[in-house]
Amino acid sequence: MTELPSLRESLEAHGLMAKKSFGQHFLLDLNITRKIVRLGGPFAGDVVIEVGPGPGGLTRALLETEAKSVIAIEMDPRFIDLLGELNGVYGERFEVINGDALKVDEAASLAERNLSPGAHIVSNLPYNVGTPLLIKWLTGPWQPLSMTLMFQLEVALRVVAPVGDKDYGRLGVISQVLCDCEKIMDLPARAFTPPPKVDSAVVKLTPKTQRPSAAIIKNLEKVTAAAFGQRRKMLRASLKPLGGEALLETAGITPTERAEQVSPADFLRLAELL
Ligand code: SAM
Repeated sequence: MTELPSLRESLEAHGLMAKKSFGQHFLLDLNITRKIVRLGGPFAGDVVIEVGPGPGGLTRALLETEAKSVIAIEMDPRFIDLLGELNGVYGERFEVINGDALKVDEAASLAERNLSPGAHIVSNLPYNVGTPLLIKWLTGPWQPLSMTLMFQLEVALRVVAPVGDKDYGRLGVISQVLCDCEKIMDLPARAFTPPPKVDSAVVKLTPKTQRPSAAIIKNLEKVTAAAFGQRRKMLRASLKPLGGEALLETAGITPTERAEQVSPADFLRLAELL
């Protein structure tokens, strides 16, 4: 088996530096990437899609597991040759696609490769596209088996915030209606090269077995947008265009409550009644 150079050596050999425009902050310590993978797993026998492998620290940790295969989607073409070196060690278990993860059709990519339709997502997400990617995987037609995602701390806290918490909002409600959500690791800014301005955290999201229909998910997006768009207002006012007091009473929710007092389960009930 070919020995891989260290991640720093690989970056140097390919003359690569982090680019701000791609949100690049690298994890070059394999102890950290192995820990993320251990806490996010198990992946044995399954396909893992990694978004934004960069120099490949998380990718290496994923390939060390018994995952059936790892498909990485990297937008920055400068990294494709460097990542190709992983094939020397891991052969066809690894493939890198040069593209924008926001535009990739995961179901089609898996089918084209004759792989099972289910796959886990693991990513140290570029900060600028972290939330849109999460929304895509939560609400889109293709559903991951699990998601292990690094976010800036503020976003991670919003995903897991309980009802009544200052960080509780739309992202938390949608995430928690559709998935079990857990913050599994905190990482200080200094763990990254170059360090970002803020700390980060890893969240694991496991889709619930009972998934609401696409129409109810759409309604959930609608009702949370209305409720949290005017979060200081009482629900009977903010939800007026959607049915106001009558809707709330049918759902068994006090019309004078505000959005942050309504649990994910109650938002789901509202979405079902719309
Ligand atoms: N996974 C690497 C690590 O942990 O060291 C790099 C993480 S870095 C925060 C984010 C990576 O995502 C970069 O490699 C960047 O080029 C890539 N990226 C940014 N936007 C992307 C997009 N829309 N689709 C796919 N990759 C993207």
